[in-house]
Amino acid sequence: MKNIDMLLVYPKPGKDSPLQLTPLSILYPGALFESQGMRVAYHDDRFDTEESLIDLIKHSKEIGVSAFTGFQCGEAARILKLAKRLNPEIVTGVGGHHARILPDQVQAEPFVDKVWPLPSYGEYLFPFKPHTEIHFKRTDMQYFTSRGCPFACRFCALRSPWEPKDAGDIDRELRAIHEKAGFDYVSFADPNIAYDRYKDGGGWHTIDSVSRIRQIGKTLRDLKVFWDGNIRSPDLTPEMVESLVYANCTSIEIGCESGNEYFLRNLIKKGHGVEAIKTAAKNIRGSGISMMYSFIANMPGETPAMLRDTMELIDWIVDTDPAARVSIYNYTPYPGSPMFDDAVNGVGGYPKFTPPTTMEGWAQLRLMQTPIYWITGLNFRMDNTKKNFPGEDWKIIEPYVKMAQSKWKSRDVSEFPCEEVERLIERQFEKRRIAAEQEASKEQK
Ligand code: SF4
Repeated sequence: MKNIDMLLVYPKPGKDSPLQLTPLSILYPGALFESQGMRVAYHDDRFDTEESLIDLIKHSKEIGVSAFTGFQCGEAARILKLAKRLNPEIVTGVGGHHARILPDQVQAEPFVDKVWPLPSYGEYLFPFKPHTEIHFKRTDMQYFTSRGCPFACRFCALRSPWEPKDAGDIDRELRAIHEKAGFDYVSFADPNIAYDRYKDGGGWHTIDSVSRIRQIGKTLRDLKVFWDGNIRSPDLTPEMVESLVYANCTSIEIGCESGNEYFLRNLIKKGHGVEAIKTAAKNIRGSGISMMYSFIANMPGETPAMLRDTMELIDWIVDTDPAARVSIYNYTPYPGSPMFDDAVNGVGGYPKFTPPTTMEGWAQLRLMQTPIYWITGLNFRMDNTKKNFPGEDWKIIEPYVKMAQSKWKSRDVSEFPCEEVERLIERQFEKRRIAAEQEASKEQK
């Protein structure tokens, strides 16, 4: 008997992600379907078994998967094909970022019956219920205090109006989850946690974002919960840093993108220049908050000289802010932004990009993790490298760290044994997974 109206599945988001964030992209839509009287079941492919997925598929009328462009698309496709094979009557659907930016392409897949193309479903509801508690308890807590980002960075597909959640609701919801799920750390997934203007039925409003962070922080201090989030460089004023420290923030990320003034202001239209990044670094240093400085290399229009400016700025950052963590991602042309069109059209000498036409095709794109990504990571993400290679295992990665350091110094970022490093890290994850399983089975005995 098909006694489940809607089965919502969160496919694995990557091969080796150390973070296991709360699968909000199925929990909010689930709350919406439940509010419409549907019987909803949830499957998180990072934790739940294939046997349980098969059983749920056999008993479901409809299945929906959430997919972000990239690896997760391939997993989503695999699960929907499995569903059609096991239960040919089942209605299949895709939601999430990928369905939003490429609805027609997703709809054209032979194993997809429908697409949910809106940016959000049910996000005004509270998805924490006794039967969803497990999805909060076993994951790294993730939560939103606001939605959207109104800026117009040319490489970004996230832009949408900023919508803050009511501070009273944030307080009530965080306390309710904390009481049952007992977390001590939360990652705020807001793209831009400290924006200050929004529009509702009553028109435009401007808020004091420093006070808002303090207000949210009061809840977090009461609960003894620490957190990380994303902010724009110009918002990191001394007052904001003070407020973040008060609010128990321990880690914050800024999208720097480039160290070249012209590139930042004119080509990607970041809305600020290099000075804003430097001021943010000076304001945050010594505060106790570790800042993650995120850069992107090899975008259409970027010259080797501009990339060298980025590397110079990074050297300045790590000298100025000793708690800095830095990543350079290689640009990947994801649709939904003007820069994607530049990549397709080969603007500025960019090798013309031919976009994949299927979900599985998007899953195979691995453009982000290139020599510059690993060279920067092994230089400036010691936090991750030390976590991945603790104690005696350090010897395994040490030669690659030394190679990365020497390459960074000589500004030689064209080649690196990326696949070897990826394999080593995968092996470390596997080792950790086996150790955790052995530990769990010991506890059971
Ligand atoms: S890159 Fe960041 S600041 Fe720019 S539009 Fe996207 S979310 Fe907003």
